Amino acid sequence: MPETSIQQAAFQQGVSRRDFLKFYSMMAGVLALPRSYMGEIEKALATPARLPVIWLEFQDCAGCMEALLRATQPTVSQLVLDVLSVDYHETIMAAAGNLAEEAKQATIDAGGYLLVIEGSIPVGEGEYYCTIGGKSALQQLNEAAANAVAVVAVGNCAAYGGWPIAKPNPTNATFVSDLVKDKPVMNLPRCPYNPVNLTAAVVHFLTFGELPAMDDKGRPLFAYGDRIHDNCPRRGHFDAGEFVVAWGDEGHRKGW
Ligand code: SF4
Repeated sequence: MPETSIQQAAFQQGVSRRDFLKFYSMMAGVLALPRSYMGEIEKALATPARLPVIWLEFQDCAGCMEALLRATQPTVSQLVLDVLSVDYHETIMAAAGNLAEEAKQATIDAGGYLLVIEGSIPVGEGEYYCTIGGKSALQQLNEAAANAVAVVAVGNCAAYGGWPIAKPNPTNATFVSDLVKDKPVMNLPRCPYNPVNLTAAVVHFLTFGELPAMDDKGRPLFAYGDRIHDNCPRRGHFDAGEFVVAWGDEGHRKGW
């Protein structure tokens, strides 16, 4: 277990107490939790906690990882990379070759990590695309999912297949929830996904010990439960059939 908490590490990197309070408030807002939960979130992030991350990339464009690394608020890369520790990621880890594979295996053997998948998975006759260290993508996924506490599929490619699954789908691509059936799988679709949602899911996991509530497509309700349409201040006019049909008409003047 690391000696520093996420909060301590962030303070050491220049994040102020005021910034952190904003972060707690934002996380409570993103997770649709009452503000009273800010204290719970603060307690979780102030406690040294080990949640290693294994991030596997298969058939993707690396745009989802880029989205994470370029996130500015709330210092996502600091939270995930510096404190939670990404024990394996081909794009950002310093180790290579056997050393990298051994580090991944050690994390898998220890268990209790979060598995993040980016990209679709080639199966069947295409299974040996994305082979790394002599293991097909499917083998890598199955081995890494075995001891994970949960699996997060980031981006359309991992959540639903994305562009690799498009006809004629030459690699027989499929998606995470089609293959991992014995672990909680959370989908964070979009191209690329929104890294704030991954941060919020991690914060939820650290605070409550489980993934947030999800819909029937495996998407977190806090991010996908409502449509923007439902929160539009003009929704009442839509429901009442009150529409503007031309600029300057009566409906326009009434603010429909
Ligand atoms: S979902 Fe989009 S950004 Fe993410 S890996 Fe697939 S193509 Fe790239």
